[in-house]
Amino acid sequence: MSLPDFARIPRERLPELLAAMPKAELHIHIEGSLEPELIFALAQRNGVALAYPDVQALRDAYAFTNLQSFLDIYYAGASVLIEEQDFYDMAWAYLRKAAEENVRRTELFFDPQTHTARGVAMATVINGLHRACEDAREKLGVDAALILCFLRHLSEDAAFETLEQALPLRDKFIGVGLDSSELGHPPEKFVRVFARCRQLGFRLVAHAGEEGPAAYVWSALDALHVERIDHGVQSIHDADLMRRLAQEGIPLTVCPLSNLKLRVFEDLRQHNLGQLLEAGLVATINSDDPAYFGGYLNQNFIETFDATGLGARQAWQLATNSFTGSFADAQAKRRWCDEVNATFARFAA
Ligand SMILES: [Zn+2]
Repeated sequence: MSLPDFARIPRERLPELLAAMPKAELHIHIEGSLEPELIFALAQRNGVALAYPDVQALRDAYAFTNLQSFLDIYYAGASVLIEEQDFYDMAWAYLRKAAEENVRRTELFFDPQTHTARGVAMATVINGLHRACEDAREKLGVDAALILCFLRHLSEDAAFETLEQALPLRDKFIGVGLDSSELGHPPEKFVRVFARCRQLGFRLVAHAGEEGPAAYVWSALDALHVERIDHGVQSIHDADLMRRLAQEGIPLTVCPLSNLKLRVFEDLRQHNLGQLLEAGLVATINSDDPAYFGGYLNQNFIETFDATGLGARQAWQLATNSFTGSFADAQAKRRWCDEVNATFARFAA
């Protein structure tokens, strides 16, 4: 296969190309797609009292300065999710948006412990999300799968308990991940539960190297045996790690607007995505918690390309990486990558 002729794509057409190109999203917390409008609608439907008088007051409260201050509001927003239909509605709102943005494949993280801790049954959470994923395939042409995340600020025993509760529904999610407050909660804390999940045949991912050090990326790989690193931008400070990630083709799910909002980078122009690609890493762009971090997937692409000067070649690489880094089957990956090539050929014509 010959590469598209990137030089023939004028820079001013980049935003249009970034929006039009088929892509996968591999790092989206479905609870982080809850828009203030939906939070208010669900609060009303379920009779939940919110600490904010109106939608605007809630939006105004989204002025976090770090991961922890974000998580505090994030968990408050999730408190309106009670019935199976609430989980469906939340996922469906995101999946419709994803379809509009030419997302062909998405792997949704969900945090069951945020809900089971409030007395919501595991089946309520998973069945609502799963039904939305099934409808997305049928009605939107979006291939969606679920990844259950353990909250790392809680104990490994709590993770085990969560896994046990979810196992009767195991055909409805494809893998497990590790999220929430990274600093002080290294991957080593979850070695036994990840070993068990590996044994059970789940796909494995973990957040590492967002605010935490490159050492957490090493231990996510070596102690947890994950197949993909969520964030991983701190890997840049460790040359041996960078070589390993490139050699083993371990995908990084990078989230530029999230990094900006949580001050992992002070300015989008300083973002290291271009360097990660330059070093041959399978880096991807993702939205993380789009309702909270100022943009869905295409916004992440457009603002990052605008700030960093990345061009059509990197756009093609990122779209291709997003599919090859996904957990979809090989045939689907090939089909989507062909579609990426066809889109670039059209823009280069
Ligand atoms: Zn995340």
